[in-house]
Amino acid sequence: MNLHEYQGKELLKSYGVAIQEGIVVNTVEEAQQAYGKLQEETNTEFAVVKAQIHAGGRGKGGGVKLAKNGDELKEHASNILGMMLKTPQTPGGMEGPGKLVRKVLIAEDVYAPDFDACKEYYVSILMDRERKCNVIIYSTEGGMDIETVAEETPHLVHKEYVDPTLGLLPFQTRKIAFNLGLSGQAFKGMTRFVNSLYKAFVGSDASLFEINPCLKTGDDRILAVDCKVSLDDNALFRHKDLEAMRDTDEEDPTEVEARSHGLNYVNLDGNVGCMVNGAGLAMATMDIIKLSGGEPANFLDVGGTADAERVEKAFRIILKDPKVKAILINIFGGIVRCDRVASGVVQAYKNLGTVEVPIIVRLQGTNADIAKDIIDKSGLSVRSAIKLEEAAAIVSEVLS
Ligand code: GDP
Ligand code: MN
Repeated sequence: MNLHEYQGKELLKSYGVAIQEGIVVNTVEEAQQAYGKLQEETNTEFAVVKAQIHAGGRGKGGGVKLAKNGDELKEHASNILGMMLKTPQTPGGMEGPGKLVRKVLIAEDVYAPDFDACKEYYVSILMDRERKCNVIIYSTEGGMDIETVAEETPHLVHKEYVDPTLGLLPFQTRKIAFNLGLSGQAFKGMTRFVNSLYKAFVGSDASLFEINPCLKTGDDRILAVDCKVSLDDNALFRHKDLEAMRDTDEEDPTEVEARSHGLNYVNLDGNVGCMVNGAGLAMATMDIIKLSGGEPANFLDVGGTADAERVEKAFRIILKDPKVKAILINIFGGIVRCDRVASGVVQAYKNLGTVEVPIIVRLQGTNADIAKDIIDKSGLSVRSAIKLEEAAAIVSEVLS
């Protein structure tokens, strides 16, 4: 689950990470009130208006604007609220339709007191699966695409690996501050910043924190100007406060619906819909679809209890995707018996009325032969296979 910038900052602040302060609002009037409040707390008339959508690169698309006074603030807030913001990261990129901006963050201009003395850094924390530990990635080249920095000047991207059993050690935070070329107050500030950031990362069961830019102000404070936070869905049960931050407006509506039925669904770009029980089998199925020349349209794990009702829900969800040109149902009858799943498929198919796309069913495991019989005798135009290769061959045949 991803958080908005303003929510991520709230989380960071609760762990003592210094942030660019701001107030999130839904309307232009609220934006003006928020600006008034910020004025009382800061000694600059400058403020930034920042679109709150689940995508980075907002600045590039005109979603982050500096206001030098109240009039400009009103103007920017009116323009950004309600706009379809296109960034390199919204669906379809700068050519896509963009994402509707429902909220903006009115933030203090932390660069204002001494813009030229400010310096932007990059700091992120994520998991390194190969090394089985967390890694802090950091660079002096903040404010830019880290991908570009990594490609063009890889020596400017540093990594600090953190053993999860030892945690982040003081020598490591010092090394980071040193490699960033800091000294004095800013050096200390950076060690504190990274330390609190790491605590927040572990404490919230996050899978990604990306602070870009992390700013050194003219008076040598270190703070998070932007933040991208992704949380581990599997740990949300122990973070009710964070789970409550979920913004379904920002999520794929089909994925939201699937979740409400307990289905694990991820929408993809291809044309072969997949319905599978078990995440590992789902991955293998996607591989075999690719090998046979197709592209999976989704990842869908119906779970261990693939009864008729779930199969039908899964069907409906897959069929919502207009890209789907064939559906491959791949079920391993371990906990569930194949014949029960087959009956479920037949029933779901009948309940759905007409289904335009060809369906290939591969049931393997307990009572696979009975299941094949049920499908073959159902009179429905469902093709069945027992081996995965067979199923894949049928998929590529119906697609060509
Ligand atoms: P992103 O484009 O989605 O990554 O959004 P950011 O929050 O990173 O903002 C984009 C850029 O706007 C940053 O890289 C900064 O250079 C600039 N920016 C953000 N906040 C301020 C601010 O308070 N003052 C000024 N002058 N620039 C800011
Ligand atoms: Mn940013």
